[in-house]
Amino acid sequence: MPAPKLYKNYINGEWVEPRGGKTFENVNPADKSDIVGLFPASDKCDLEEAVAAAKAAYNGWRLTPPPKRADILFRAAQMLVERKEELARDMTREMGKILKETRGDVQEAIDMGLYMAGEGRRLLGYTSTSELPNKFAMCVRQPLGVCGMITPWNFPMAIPSWKIFPALICGNTVVFKPASDTPLSGYNFAKILNEAGLPKGVLNLITGSGGKVGEPLMRHPDVSVISFTGSTEIGRQVSVACAPDFRHCHLEMGGKNMILVMDDAKLELAVDGALWGGFGTTGQRCTAASRVGVHKKVYKQFLDRFVARAKALKVGNGLDPTVEMGPCINAKQRESVHEYVEIGKNEGARLLCGGTALTDGDHAKGAFYAPTIFGDCDPKMRVSQEEIFGPVVSVIPFDTFEQGVEIANGVVYGLSSSIYTQDVNRAFAAMRDLYTGIVYINAPTIGAEIHLPFGGVKQTGNGHREAGIAGIDVFSEWKSIYVDYSGTLQRAQIDTHS
Ligand code: NAP
Repeated sequence: MPAPKLYKNYINGEWVEPRGGKTFENVNPADKSDIVGLFPASDKCDLEEAVAAAKAAYNGWRLTPPPKRADILFRAAQMLVERKEELARDMTREMGKILKETRGDVQEAIDMGLYMAGEGRRLLGYTSTSELPNKFAMCVRQPLGVCGMITPWNFPMAIPSWKIFPALICGNTVVFKPASDTPLSGYNFAKILNEAGLPKGVLNLITGSGGKVGEPLMRHPDVSVISFTGSTEIGRQVSVACAPDFRHCHLEMGGKNMILVMDDAKLELAVDGALWGGFGTTGQRCTAASRVGVHKKVYKQFLDRFVARAKALKVGNGLDPTVEMGPCINAKQRESVHEYVEIGKNEGARLLCGGTALTDGDHAKGAFYAPTIFGDCDPKMRVSQEEIFGPVVSVIPFDTFEQGVEIANGVVYGLSSSIYTQDVNRAFAAMRDLYTGIVYINAPTIGAEIHLPFGGVKQTGNGHREAGIAGIDVFSEWKSIYVDYSGTLQRAQIDTHS
């Protein structure tokens, strides 16, 4: 085996080694003998340099006309198109999801790049009327300054793109800390943006642990916005860290999403959806359908087909085009998944398939786990309530639509939900009553598109949304401007009613 490649941070337009000289290994979860690369284990000193570079670059970038900023984003999106296959392969190698999915991840970054580049000729505010004569009123968007981006490993290019493209088009500069399980995709993304022509200091990449890099980043007084996607536990810490100085924070966190299968559902379609929603990305999606509620009238038929299809899934290295499900992100995550399976068994959930690590043949090389389904789950069991983030689906029987909705809403999270029904009245009632940021009708809980707001309610989010125009709102602030050309002092609310 050749020695693994040594990667660097990108600070102020230069590729630089971390001050402390330490590195960490990026390991392929499908084959632990495959070291994808050595990445800087940076610390607070490196972070300080990155923030200082982003701060120094801010004024120049803020004053660059947005269509000029957009030219760079268009170029970056084009480069992503040209390198899509190689970027997807790197991503599968470092985080395990199958090639079809990693191509989709890169495509999401392309789509977001093009969408946000288009915003370079919009970034619309509006003009309005004034209550006083000879007075003009309008509002415009303005950038905030340095944005700190802290991202997870499950969408290692798509999620950074949801944050970085809108931040840049609005005129902010960026310090980007990717997840330690997927630094290569973060590196690839930052490299392309810089090759596309970003001025030095506008985008800085710094790898290292949450504690050594994420912590000082989220507490840094020169960072105006923290945009974080990850667990609710760490999101809460980000929120608390930003609160004393009222620095903005945008949080996208955990989920416990549910598909409802009604008695009039097209069952085969619902099984397709439950399979893709539950086991796509090995169940490691914030929007994963980790709960499936099934009306008692079709419970047995649904479950028989769902279990048969899950047992038949081919699990293995995502670079093999015949494989349908990759490994867990690492051995620790696989252990955590297995602990939940034990919890489910002890709670009395009926294990219908899976429930074990896969260790036969080539599976022994990686962190593989069998697709697992629990039947007859009570909605209050821990496996029905807590985010497992692995290939485990809890199936819950119910009697009525109202009961199904109550179960779906009865968790602390609120990211995504779905209903399979042919009844248009029920579909509309579900759109109204399911309390999640995203609702699907006759489709699984996964599959968001980049031009609509993305995010969740309750303990999934803090009221902001990514993607679409909502994504622009996170990285800009409104400024209202009044121009009085009357030549006299005019007092709003007073002169109008005297
Ligand atoms: P995580 O452990 O919370 O990590 C997320 C990011 O935070 C990583 O970059 C991590 O760095 C960093 N971090 C860890 N500890 C930190 C600290 N003390 N201070 C600052 N930063 C810190 O989450 P994950 O395991 O990567 O991702 C899985 C979670 O993300 C799930 O809960 C999933 O639902 C959620 N998620 C949500 C969405 C959404 O849009 N709602 C999308 C995808 C994923 P290291 O990697 O170095 O630890």
